[in-house]
Amino acid sequence: HAKKRGGSQTRVYDATMEDALERKLEIEEGLRKAIERGELLVYYQPQVELKSGALIGAEALVRWKHPDKGLVPPGQFIPVAEETGLIKPIGEWVLREACRQAKAWQDAGHPPITVSVNLSNRQFEEQHLAQTVGDVLAECGLDPSYLELEITESMAMDVMRTLPALENLKGLGIQISIDDFGTGYSSLSYLKRFPIDKIKIDRSFVQDIAHPSESDTAIVSAIVAVAHHLKLKVIAEGVETAEQLEFLRQQRCDLLQGYYYSPPVPADRFEQLIRDFPGRSTPA
Ligand code: C2E
Ligand code: MG
Ligand code: MG
Ligand code: MG
Repeated sequence: HAKKRGGSQTRVYDATMEDALERKLEIEEGLRKAIERGELLVYYQPQVELKSGALIGAEALVRWKHPDKGLVPPGQFIPVAEETGLIKPIGEWVLREACRQAKAWQDAGHPPITVSVNLSNRQFEEQHLAQTVGDVLAECGLDPSYLELEITESMAMDVMRTLPALENLKGLGIQISIDDFGTGYSSLSYLKRFPIDKIKIDRSFVQDIAHPSESDTAIVSAIVAVAHHLKLKVIAEGVETAEQLEFLRQQRCDLLQGYYYSPPVPADRFEQLIRDFPGRSTPA
């Protein structure tokens, strides 16, 4: 329809495109300096075991404390970081920070928790990904079993590249989960072929539980059933209400994450959560 439009409309359209490009370049420019300027932060969100009610993990989620714009959520800069490749240094920084923090909490005498770090597709381009992860773990002195890496279904599409890299990562003794499960287009066969430990049910399926229809119920039960048949754990993302929790309990979901417990919070507030958490397991 663009050709049919009048001249003024076309100019408005062009201006919008230009604005978008300018915004992108601005983000890119700022991101390049964000690490060295110490503007990146890691927030942590609790992961809770349903059966025991214990806090057993934390997902590490990056934030950008922009000098003018304030706290920028990842949705506004991760896509640019991925496009430009800046996600590689950023991802490595988040990994190091999360591992350092997990070890620091252990050293402070808290019951050990697993820290989950999101991995971008683009980080699989790095030849030495497993080597890097191994180095970071050694540097931080964190036992590999307390690190989990979250990958997405779309990564599983590129089996030739992903499978060997995942096997190298698994060889380190870390855990691997599939994030946003159910939103991708890949077949389920990779669940059998890939060395994974856990499936994260996407928030969209969990949110629908508020007004359960037969089909939503069916999707969640099916995911749990497939996962358990394959001896994988299941965690539900985006749990906000007691109703959702109860439904997920009935479905025998293993772990929960969501605002029902806490939004992602800075490290010092997370340590407070560890201290105060009702179902906490006492240190051995
Ligand atoms: P994700 O990995 O699926 O992370 C979960 C997102 O859901 C987080 O958004 C979290 O704040 C949000 N969330 C958790 N519980 C609830 C809930 O109960 N209700 C609602 N409405 N939302 C909830 P966040 O922190 O904005 O991150 C968005 C996405 O950005 C992440 O989705 C992940 O894909 C990406 N991301 C964040 N940090 C990193 C990182 O360090 N590296 C990479 N590659 N991606 C990251
Ligand atoms: Mg995630
Ligand atoms: Mg997710
Ligand atoms: Mg997501």
